[in-house]
Amino acid sequence: MDRRLTDLYGLTRPELRALVESWGFSPDHAARLWRNLYLGLAASLGELPEIPARVRSRLEAETRIGALPVRLETASSDGFTRKFLLELADGARIETVLMRFTGRATACVSSQAGCAMGCVFCATGQMGFGRHLDAGEIVSQVVQAARALLASREHRRLRNVVFMGMGEPLHNYDAVMRAVDILRDPNGLALGAGRITLSTVGVVPGIRRMADEARAVHLAVSLHSADQQERALLVPAARMWPLDELMDACRHFCAALGRRIFFEWALIDGRNDTAGHAHAVGRLVRGLPAHVNLIPLNPTAGYPGDPSRADAARRFQRILADDYGLPSTVRQRRGIDICAGCGQLAAPARRPLNRSAPTAPGS
Ligand code: SAH
Ligand code: SF4
Repeated sequence: MDRRLTDLYGLTRPELRALVESWGFSPDHAARLWRNLYLGLAASLGELPEIPARVRSRLEAETRIGALPVRLETASSDGFTRKFLLELADGARIETVLMRFTGRATACVSSQAGCAMGCVFCATGQMGFGRHLDAGEIVSQVVQAARALLASREHRRLRNVVFMGMGEPLHNYDAVMRAVDILRDPNGLALGAGRITLSTVGVVPGIRRMADEARAVHLAVSLHSADQQERALLVPAARMWPLDELMDACRHFCAALGRRIFFEWALIDGRNDTAGHAHAVGRLVRGLPAHVNLIPLNPTAGYPGDPSRADAARRFQRILADDYGLPSTVRQRRGIDICAGCGQLAAPARRPLNRSAPTAPGS
């Protein structure tokens, strides 16, 4: 596939309309095309119905539908989780997870092939950075998940998208926000009104930019420790964006948008799950409208830690609730047998990529 052609899944609706109009065609064709893409979940130009030949030939000359071929699909024995290994045009590979629980279907998407942030307990971090995804490659993952869902006949529509797959979304800000705009479009997938959650390792300039641009997505910040030194050992990015600056950015986000914020905490047995750790989180987050997601550590090849025991997780929650009025949820362990859990995604490229240096984080 010629990557120089415009990927239709990378265009916002106004951009698609402008493109079709620039060819001298009526905007009705653009509206029909948009419906084919997001209600019809089209995987190729050949699948587009009701498009006149003159429009079709222009589309074929200048555009493509960047559907990502599924190289492997795995289903968890839990019956709720499916994982797709998708191949990008340059041979890079990424993983996307479709989760169905509590009656809702959620797509967990990747924002990069690999990740530059190097969190020690994360399989994506352990594989290193491949490249940023473009908006079309992000949107196509959601379309793929929606297509799989439709084929399963259980749910008609995808309800939620979480940027919790491979990569650090705020290290790829522009492409991620363009994808968010496309996903939120009310005439398309309509994933507005709190249906998208972005999880960040704590890229301070990105959090501030989200606040200043009033981005309508939930924000989850991966904390894992309430102590700068301890956190930097788990999350090397903490050296670049220290905890006090991160918490200032979180306060700015909540104040600017009048919204609550989520904090994520991978519970590691004996490492960050004691009563003392719970009190430290309570003190750190005090005063913020926050919810804490506790994620018992998932196994990865490069990190020897164990998940916290259930009683330690319960004690942690009780301290947060009773002493600090801080609500929390222990994330259910799903998809672990197929390595589809948080931090377990990894997909080496099929062939070496043309590596380029990562752009400035949060740019
Ligand atoms: N880069 C973003 C989003 C992808 S990771 C971020 O770091 O937030 C999604 C979540 O999984 C993050 O909260 C991350 O800290 C967590 N995570 C990573 N490895 C994990 C593991 N082995 N077990 C449990 N959670 C993990
Ligand atoms: Fe990257 Fe997130 Fe994994 Fe850290 S936890 S290495 S930021 S994907």
